[in-house]
Amino acid sequence: MKNAILVSSDPHWRVVMEGTLLGRGWSVASVESLSKGDAPSGKDVQAILIDSVSISVDAVNEWLGSVAETTKVPVVIVPSLSFADDFADVIDAEATVKDGKSEVSITFWGVRGSIPSPGPSTAFYGGNTSCVELTADGETIILDAGSGIRPLGEKLILESKGKPLDMHLLITHTHWDHIQGLPFFRPAYVPTNHLRVVGYEAVRHNLADVLAMQMDSSYFPISMADMPGHPEVEEVSERFHCGPVGVEAFFTNHPGKCAGFRFETSAGAVVYISDNELNHDGQATHLPRETVEHLRARLMSTMSGCKVLIHDAQYTREEYKNRVGWGHSCVEDITELAAQSGVERLVLFHHDPTRDDAGVNQLLKKSRDIVKANGWGLRVDAAREGMSIWL
Ligand SMILES: [Zn+2]
Ligand SMILES: [Zn+2]
Repeated sequence: MKNAILVSSDPHWRVVMEGTLLGRGWSVASVESLSKGDAPSGKDVQAILIDSVSISVDAVNEWLGSVAETTKVPVVIVPSLSFADDFADVIDAEATVKDGKSEVSITFWGVRGSIPSPGPSTAFYGGNTSCVELTADGETIILDAGSGIRPLGEKLILESKGKPLDMHLLITHTHWDHIQGLPFFRPAYVPTNHLRVVGYEAVRHNLADVLAMQMDSSYFPISMADMPGHPEVEEVSERFHCGPVGVEAFFTNHPGKCAGFRFETSAGAVVYISDNELNHDGQATHLPRETVEHLRARLMSTMSGCKVLIHDAQYTREEYKNRVGWGHSCVEDITELAAQSGVERLVLFHHDPTRDDAGVNQLLKKSRDIVKANGWGLRVDAAREGMSIWL
């Protein structure tokens, strides 16, 4: 792993640059000011990035003379955060080559749990609720219809150039953060498009009724029956297909009825588990007749050998102590289980609405520290709106 030091007195600059480099797999330390004490410890540091706005050029020059020349570490001055990615490219030439040219990609449109949380403190990772686009073997598979499905819809319409769209929308469960974007999904208003919606029956009503209820005239001006795209709702079975992609559905440990999905694509397996409580602190799970031990063993076999696992990491272990039974996991538990299950790449997902960008950076660092301390080969990333993974 490559290491960088960030220097800026602006906490926002540090959070965004840190997130940008963490997203590229770097290890990052950040400091507020330039002083001899901040000198890199030697050959382990591959780059120093400096914010030119809050630090004077004179100070940079003086510091470069006293530190950088002796350590021979490339120093990059970043004039504006709008260029954060371009400047990361400068020090990270390999990452500018896309990781593959396969037919399978995953793009994140909503990464937040519970409720949308827009604002300056969440702008880097994004405030939209759950929505992930899996493009695999010619199929458009949408995972959940949180508020992130609205911008995804705009992109699909642009890309389609007027041609009919054929889409699968898989709903894990009907809590608001997984269905609230559907009324604003523009492709469902195009009569020539086909939207297949798949999910479990909800606890008290069937899936089609719950989706229609949130579009009742008390809440929304257009009813689901009047959506010109006529979404076709079907109940999920244990195994089904989205075109050539085989899908396995299974229960997760979450209040009500909640599904997880494993996809067998031509480029490898992808597992999506948006809401799931792994530990439950030794108490009974939300699943009838299933113990915590059985749940973990079952999920290990489901995750086994998958290329990408997208999993609930809403809390830290410390936060979790007061949230037992709420249906979400802590980052420590999922990091361990993913590594033990032979997962190649774990994406931390369903960020808590109260967690700001600096907090997500810390969560990701915590997970990577656990991986490093145990010598595991697992790669960990934090889901971020607009991030794509090619399998
Ligand atoms: Zn959720
Ligand atoms: Zn939920």
